[in-house]
Amino acid sequence: MREQPPGERIKNYDEVPYGYSPEEAVFEAERCLQCKNPKCIEGCPVEIDIKGFIKFIAEKKFKEGVTLLKEKNILPAICGRVCPQEEQCEIKCIVGIKNEPVAIGRLERFLADWERENEEIKIPSIPKSTGKKVAIVGAGPAGITVAADLVRLGHKVDMFEALHKPGGVLVYGIPEFRLPKAIVFKEIDFLIQMGVRLFTDSVIGMIKSIDELLNEYNAVFLGTGAGLPWFLEVPGENLNGIYSANEYLTRANLMKAYLFPKYKTPIIRGKRVATVGGGNVAMDCARTALRLGAEKSIIVYRRSRTEMPARDEEIHHAEEEGIIFKFLSNPAAFHGDKNNWVNEVECVQMKLGEPDDSGRRRPVPIPDANFRIAIDVGIIAIGNSPNPLVPSTTPDIKTGKWGNIITDPATCKTSKPGVFAGGDVATGAATVILAMGAGKIAARGMHEYLMNET
Ligand SMILES: Cc1cc2nc3c(=O)[nH]c(=O)nc-3n(C[C@H](O)[C@H](O)[C@H](O)COP(=O)(O)OP(=O)(O)OC[C@H]3O[C@@H](n4cnc5c(N)ncnc54)[C@H](O)[C@@H]3O)c2cc1C
Ligand code: SF4
Repeated sequence: MREQPPGERIKNYDEVPYGYSPEEAVFEAERCLQCKNPKCIEGCPVEIDIKGFIKFIAEKKFKEGVTLLKEKNILPAICGRVCPQEEQCEIKCIVGIKNEPVAIGRLERFLADWERENEEIKIPSIPKSTGKKVAIVGAGPAGITVAADLVRLGHKVDMFEALHKPGGVLVYGIPEFRLPKAIVFKEIDFLIQMGVRLFTDSVIGMIKSIDELLNEYNAVFLGTGAGLPWFLEVPGENLNGIYSANEYLTRANLMKAYLFPKYKTPIIRGKRVATVGGGNVAMDCARTALRLGAEKSIIVYRRSRTEMPARDEEIHHAEEEGIIFKFLSNPAAFHGDKNNWVNEVECVQMKLGEPDDSGRRRPVPIPDANFRIAIDVGIIAIGNSPNPLVPSTTPDIKTGKWGNIITDPATCKTSKPGVFAGGDVATGAATVILAMGAGKIAARGMHEYLMNET
């Protein structure tokens, strides 16, 4: 897919790939073998009829293609951009045995973009009201999916979001250059046109408890995500100039610090920025730092490139843009100046040992091999736990070891009657498509509960 050249794109916040033209999409779709037993579908967590929508593209029947695609996925423009297809559908594609697999994600994105640009998106007809009311807490991909499915079944749906904009990580975490926010807001607009009422700036657990919601609504869905950042817990981590990835990305994306002073959100525009971590979140932070003017944006990761959990495409884009990778390096401390501004990160040099429980080779410290890197901003991107506010204010909701809400995987029911949960708050930090898959299961479970409650 054609992309903005690296030297140009690091000076702006615009999306990196341009997307396929209709001719390019047809050309790519024609590579599909239309397998009798399509393995690609087995790899898709929401079981999209991949073979079917690709056939429509090859026949230039884009409208039919997008209709088929949206039967299983209400957010194709988003999934086509951020899903790890290389580990899901594309890894199973038969063409991939000898050649590059069919670019399923790019074709998905093409259809969704084609519809947005060429078609008037029709609001589906909503059945007669069931008289049941549902509250959804959290407007991320899990909550959005539940809302869309339940409103289409005739239930009245109110959605409560803590932030001033809906979308969850899609708007506050993933940067504009990977996922333009206008696309997310368009999808949410669609929900609102279907009759979902959205209440922003509404932190459930503070403005209302779950028990209070249950007095007003027949059922509640918790899709509050995993927004509690982990820290390294090393000396100096509280120095000025050190951010959690969440804070850094929220300032930059949701609060548009990259457009300061037009937007009033300040952010420290470091010249030497170190991001600690090796996942998608770390790549997003390091690439954002570059766009905010960093001369050196460094990823500090304790294992090697092979063990990095980030998507290949994200690592590749980061490398192209000149991100510096310091592998086998684990921060032991941050050091600061007399005014408590960070000016160095001290790292322990690591080597790889035997594989650990995750199957990846364990990083082992090399004695007396510490070294320091000069920095003026540090970003900690080593993971997140589920948001704790709702469980901590609702003692009869059972949680697991990591603070995740325990649910029945077949229905998304929690230990509290009438309360369902899904997405990152149940699984821990995962992916958009898994959060949407959980939303689908929860909507089915909630519908059954609503229609059978006395
Ligand atoms: C920077 C970053 C990059 C990522 N990149 C990718 C990627 O490339 N591909 C991919 O598949 N996944 C990616 N992920 C993971 C993916 O975004 C998440 O798995 C997914 O968004 C989870 O969806 P969710 O609906 O469960 O939660 P979220 O998206 O976290 O949404 C939860 C929502 O609930 C709200 N909320 C929380 N508490 C309350 C409360 N008490 N009251 C009201 N509202 C509340 C939050 O404000 C938030 O809007 C990334 C994550 C991050 C942080
Ligand atoms: S496995 Fe690949 S070639 Fe076969 S139907 Fe799916 S996308 Fe087409």
